[in-house]
Amino acid sequence: MRRPLIAGNWKMNLNLAQMRALVAGIRAGCDPFGSVEIAVCPPTVYLFPIAEVIADSPIRLGAQDLYYEAQGAFTGEVSAAMVAETGARYAIIGHSERRHTIGHHEDDRMINLKVKAALAAGLTPILCVGETLEEREAGQAAEVLTFQISAALSGVKLASPERLVVAYEPVWAIGTGHNATPEQAQQAHAHLRSRLHAGVGKVAEEVRILYGGSVKPDNAGPIMTQRDVDGGLIGGASLKVDSFLAIIQATAENAAG
Ligand code: PEP
Repeated sequence: MRRPLIAGNWKMNLNLAQMRALVAGIRAGCDPFGSVEIAVCPPTVYLFPIAEVIADSPIRLGAQDLYYEAQGAFTGEVSAAMVAETGARYAIIGHSERRHTIGHHEDDRMINLKVKAALAAGLTPILCVGETLEEREAGQAAEVLTFQISAALSGVKLASPERLVVAYEPVWAIGTGHNATPEQAQQAHAHLRSRLHAGVGKVAEEVRILYGGSVKPDNAGPIMTQRDVDGGLIGGASLKVDSFLAIIQATAENAAG
């Protein structure tokens, strides 16, 4: 039985007062949905203050990225151990905004190093994979997912299923308002689970695979009923208490058994 996870990726939004208010609202409203694990991923500089606000609450903390080197002359970077010291449990790795945007262009080798660094520091990676629109239209979606997941997990041994979360985030659905249909999501998730199985073995059955890409309160329910969908990575809709809680509620009501 995989416990659903709803993680909010705040990206580079809000200020400290707004983040505190957002978390306070989530905290005040999340009690009835204890079947769903909740995480918030603020920008790195806000990890410590948000850790204080969620102390003694069921809300978990995640970083949006980390660097793979342990220490040294890497101006501007933050190591996995530094992220772990803030109390974070999760770290998003390989988000499409880091794979595809100018100035980042993270490749699969770097993502593999980041996954390994996160695991070594005791963090659970939320590993993002997903095809672009061109790749989908060329019929290459499954092939791209196979490559990305195998490359990211190359040489990774998974001690237990809690140590990894995968997020299927079709690039064409992120922040665009065009989400994958529940059937498209299920097909991609089932494919990812079978590839995970090939890579890390039986433990793949218990690893959570989140869907991400324009999840909103009105489309969350049908996506969450899919057999291999174990929650969501939420961007825009995680920035408001009402919409984030509504997605959590829809997940609690519809999560696949
Ligand atoms: C994301 O950035 O991971 C994401 C899914 O964003 P949005 O929900 O805004 O599409």
